[in-house]
Amino acid sequence: MNILILGSGQLARMMALAGYPLGLRVAAVDVNARNVVDPITKLVSEKSLNQALKDADAISVEFEHIPQDLLEQVNATGKLMPSMEAIMAGADRVKEKKLLSGLNIANCPYKIITDANHLDESIAELGEQLIIKASRDGYDGYGQWRLSSAAQLSELKLQLSELDLQKVPLVVEKMLHFERELSLVGVRSASGDIAYYPLAENLHHQGQLHVSVAPAPHVNDALNQQAQDIFNKLAEKLGYIGVLAVEFFQMGEQLLVNEIAPRVHNSGHWSMQGADTCQFENHLRAISGLPLGATKVLTPTAMINIIGCDDFSRDVLSIPGCHLHLYGKTVRSKRKMGHFNLCANTYAELGKALQQFAQHVPIEHFPLLKDEALRLAAM
Ligand code: ATP
Ligand code: MG
Repeated sequence: MNILILGSGQLARMMALAGYPLGLRVAAVDVNARNVVDPITKLVSEKSLNQALKDADAISVEFEHIPQDLLEQVNATGKLMPSMEAIMAGADRVKEKKLLSGLNIANCPYKIITDANHLDESIAELGEQLIIKASRDGYDGYGQWRLSSAAQLSELKLQLSELDLQKVPLVVEKMLHFERELSLVGVRSASGDIAYYPLAENLHHQGQLHVSVAPAPHVNDALNQQAQDIFNKLAEKLGYIGVLAVEFFQMGEQLLVNEIAPRVHNSGHWSMQGADTCQFENHLRAISGLPLGATKVLTPTAMINIIGCDDFSRDVLSIPGCHLHLYGKTVRSKRKMGHFNLCANTYAELGKALQQFAQHVPIEHFPLLKDEALRLAAM
C-alpha cells in the first residue's frame, strides 16, 4: 500500500519508519517545493506530485499549515484523511474556536480582532495579561505575543502594525494561570473505532514543548473521562480518521482546550517505547483501513525534546530504558533536533533515571529536567 504524507519533516519520517514493518510505503511531499521526497533520506523522487497523488492509496498530513491550493488539489482525490475540514480547523485558530464553541467545549476566554487598536477592548474584557496568537501559521510558540501589563500596549501595537490583520486576524486570549498542561492523543478508524493513549503531562518553556510524561501522574477517572468525552465530540463532528491530539489546560478539576492538532503530535512521541502500538503506527493503521493497535501502556515514560543542540555524549544511552530518536536535521536555535524516550517501571524510578540523564546532557538546553526529575523521584 502507498501512503503519501503532506510535509516532509520528522513526523513524516517517523511514520515512514513505523510503516516499514507493516509493508506500507510512505512517501512525503515538500509542500513548498511541491515535489515528492523520501521522508527518511530526503532524496527528491523523480515522480511528479500528480503521479504520487494518483499512486497513493491514502493521503495524510504531518502538519496543518498546508497551502490552500495544494490542500484543495489533494482533497479532490478523495483520499485525504483526516478530512480537509479537520485540517483547516487545526490550521486556523478562528475556525478552531468556532468549532469548540459550536460543540460547547470549554476553552480559554478570547476575542478575535482584525485591528490592533481593538486590543484596548480586549484588555477591558479579558484583563491586562494576554497572549495574542496569529490565527494562522503559528507553531512552537512562534506567531505569539505576550502582554503582561497595559504599560506594554503601545509597544505591542507597534509590533503588530506590520501584520495584515484583515488577512490573518489575531486571537487574543486571557493568560491563564493553569495548574498544568495535559494532552490526549487518540486515534479513530474509518468505521468509528476509537483508541486513546493516556493523558500526557506536558512541560513547556518559552512556548515550546520540552518534556512530556505519560501517563500523566495524578489523573483521576473523572478527568480522564472529561478528556475522552471532548475527544469523542471533536472526532465525531469531524468524521475523523487518524490520530488527533487535543491540548488542554487543567484548571482545578476542569479541562479547557488550548488547541487541537489534526495529526500525530509531539506529546505522543513517548508511545514509541511506552505503549504497545505507537501513535505513528496507529495513524497509518487508521488511514490504511487496518485494525487499530492496542494503546496499552508498557511503562511510565518521559519524552525529552532535544532542542537547538546536537552535541552531547552518547554515553547517555547507558541509562537503562533510554532511547534516542534523531531527525537528521542541522542544528538551529529552538529547532527540534530529536527526542529521547526514557522508560522506567515506576515514576520514582523514572525520576532517578532523569537525574542521571541530566548529568549527561548540556543542561542549558534542557532547562526543565532537574525540577521534573526531583518531582518524579519524590513520587
Ligand atoms: P505548539 O505548536 O507547540 O503546540 P503553538 O505555537 O501552536 O504551540 P499554543 O499551543 O497555542 O501554540 O501555545 C504554546 C504554549 O503557550 C502553550 O502550550 C502554553 O504553555 C502557552 N499558552 C498558550 N496559550 C496560553 C494561555 N491562554 N494562557 C497561558 N499560557 C498559554
Ligand atoms: Mg500547542
